[in-house]
Amino acid sequence: MSGHRRFPGGRLVVATHNPGKLRELKALFHPYTDDLVSAGDLGLPEPEETGLTFAANAELKARAAALASGVCALADDSGLCVDALDGAPGIFSARWAGEGKDFGVAMERIRRELADKGLETSPAHFVCALSLAFPDGHCETFEGRFDGHVVFPPRGTRGFGYDPILLPLGGAQTFGEMDPEEKHRISHRARAFAQLLAASFGG
Ligand code: IMP
Repeated sequence: MSGHRRFPGGRLVVATHNPGKLRELKALFHPYTDDLVSAGDLGLPEPEETGLTFAANAELKARAAALASGVCALADDSGLCVDALDGAPGIFSARWAGEGKDFGVAMERIRRELADKGLETSPAHFVCALSLAFPDGHCETFEGRFDGHVVFPPRGTRGFGYDPILLPLGGAQTFGEMDPEEKHRISHRARAFAQLLAASFGG
């Protein structure tokens, strides 16, 4: 594909401090590089997420890691946008769960804020922005989106975060009930990765 700068090979830093995420990404990027390291392993600081969009936050995390390490770096930013709440929690999705990372609290806040508007449900979508930054600061950024409705009470224990309240359009199971393999095939994250791989890693 033309117009996109391609990954030159060699080391790729993943701007995450989460070992689970690193393990998943190692499998995904295995065909393109065996040298995947996390920003956490390199002792790089985590920049503050001051962007106003998912893409801006993914870019600032990726760029900070690429500039600090001198090699390409990959970062993502994701969250749930509820239409009737003007897109909230959006880029604040992780923060709504509070210090204790309690997504029961975050999902209950969505239910309550909808109820305050006389609503039981709303169209909603997950977004994943993925950015590949180069050591000169250039970024290639892609966004995947997955549409559905929020439903209450939360259903299923198989996913994470807001999965138990996201019912895909036309679906019968929430992301929390669905076979994880199925979710990973169709999700906002899968869509963003498909674009990134096609554009910068050659399929
Ligand atoms: P991030 O780690 O700053 O990108 O925060 C993303 C937050 O959005 C996570 O803490 C989750 O709560 C939520 N989120 C993103 N993707 C998903 C998903 O696939 N399922 C459920 N929640 C998600």
